[in-house]
Amino acid sequence: MKTFAIATLGCKVNTFESESYIESLISSGYQLVDFKGPADIYIINTCSVTNTAASKSRQKIHQAIRQNADAMICVVGCYVQTNQDELNDIDRIDLLIGAKHKSKLVEYIQQGQGYPDINDQRDIMFENLPLKQYNHQTRAFLKIQDGCDQFCSYCIIPFARGNERWAPSDDLVEMAKGLVRNGHKEIVLSGIHIGRYGKDSRHDLSHLLKRLIDEVDGLRRIRLSSIEITEITPQLLDLMTSSEKIVRHFHIPLQSGCDTVLKRMNRPYTSDEFYVRIQEIRQRFPLISISTDVIVGFVGESEEEFQTTVAFVEKCRFSFMHIFPYSMRANTAAALMSGHLDAITKKARSQILIEKSNLLKMRYDMQFVNKEVSVLFESFQKGIATGHTGEYVLVSVISDESMNNQCHRVWITHHKQGRNYGVLVKKVVES
Ligand code: SF4
Repeated sequence: MKTFAIATLGCKVNTFESESYIESLISSGYQLVDFKGPADIYIINTCSVTNTAASKSRQKIHQAIRQNADAMICVVGCYVQTNQDELNDIDRIDLLIGAKHKSKLVEYIQQGQGYPDINDQRDIMFENLPLKQYNHQTRAFLKIQDGCDQFCSYCIIPFARGNERWAPSDDLVEMAKGLVRNGHKEIVLSGIHIGRYGKDSRHDLSHLLKRLIDEVDGLRRIRLSSIEITEITPQLLDLMTSSEKIVRHFHIPLQSGCDTVLKRMNRPYTSDEFYVRIQEIRQRFPLISISTDVIVGFVGESEEEFQTTVAFVEKCRFSFMHIFPYSMRANTAAALMSGHLDAITKKARSQILIEKSNLLKMRYDMQFVNKEVSVLFESFQKGIATGHTGEYVLVSVISDESMNNQCHRVWITHHKQGRNYGVLVKKVVES
C-alpha cells in the first residue's frame, strides 16, 4: 500500500480541503503517515497570504524532498497560483495544482502527474470536495464558498483563489447531514468571503442557514468563520433571533479603525459605519462576542492613524483580535504605494495591539462570571474537562470523566489566566 503525508498551511478553507484530500486518498487505498517521516507521496497544501506563509510553504516542499528523494511531490493551492515561477525552479516537484482542478488531485496522483492551469482565475467554477468526517470530533468546517472579488489593496487572495463562487445549498445540506451523522455537533461555515454566498439571489447565506437549521437533525451549533460588517443583513439577525443554533459570535474583520487607512486599503466602510452596525447587533444580542482582525503598519500608516485605530478598537470592545503586521504582496495595489514602514515599527505597533487584545479578551470573558452558559466539551486531561461556549469562550470544569463531544450547562465561578472556570449545573447531556 502506498503511503502519503500532507502538510497544511494557512486558513480554515485549506484545512477543509486537506481533510477532503485525506479522505479521498484513504478511500482510494492509500495510507496516511506523519509528514515528519518517510512517505511515497507528499502533499503540501500551501498558503501565500503573507511572506511568512509563503516561506513556510517553500520550507515544507524542501523538507519533503529531503526526507525521500524518490517520493512524489505534489504542491497544491495559493502559493502555486501566485508564485509558479519560483516552483518551476524546483525540478523535483511532480504535480502542481493552483486554484483550479483541486477535485482532480487523486486522479493526478494516480496518473503520476498533473499540470497547473493558472490562467482565467476570474472564471473558475465551484469544485465540490467531498468530506464526511474530521479528525477533530466536535467541530467540523464546511466549505461553502471560495474566491473573492473585493480586491482590498493589500490582499493577494483574489489572485490566489480567483473569483467568488459557492456550492449549491442542496450539496451543503447533504454534507452537513453526513458530518452530523458522523458525530460532529458544531459546523463552521467557511470560505474566503462567505457573506457573498449566493450573492444577488434569493439563495443567499440566510437562506442556506435556514435550510441547515430546519433540515439537519442533530446539528447543535452553526458558526460563521468570518463575515464582513457590510454583509450582516437584517435577515441574518432575524434568523439568529429565531434560532439559538447560530452561535452568538461574529468574527468581523476591521483591518483599521482609521478612515484614511481604510480608504487606502479599499475597504467598503468607514469606521463610523462599522461602529453603528456593531451597536445595532449588540442591541439585539447584548452579550454577543464580536472579534476582529487588524492589520498593523499598513503602507503610510502614521503614528496618529495608528493611535486612531488603538482608540477605535477600545471603543468597539472586541472580544478578541487577531493582529497581523502588514506584509507586502507582489502585484497588489498596496505594493505600489509609497511609504512602506520598517519592520521594527510594525512589530512595536503589533505588540501594543496584542496587549490591548489580551485586555479586551479578559474583560469580555469575565462578563460570564456568575452566569450559566452552554459548553461543548472538546478535551479531557488530568481531571479537567475543557470546551467552548457558543461565544467561543474557553471553559474548564473539574470532572472525573471525559465529556468530549457533549454539551452541558455550566455555572461560571471565576476567570483565571485566559480562561473561565465553572461547575456543572447538572450533569445532563443537552440534546
Ligand atoms: S475581502 Fe479583502 S481581505 Fe478579504 S479575501 Fe477579499 S480582498 Fe482579501
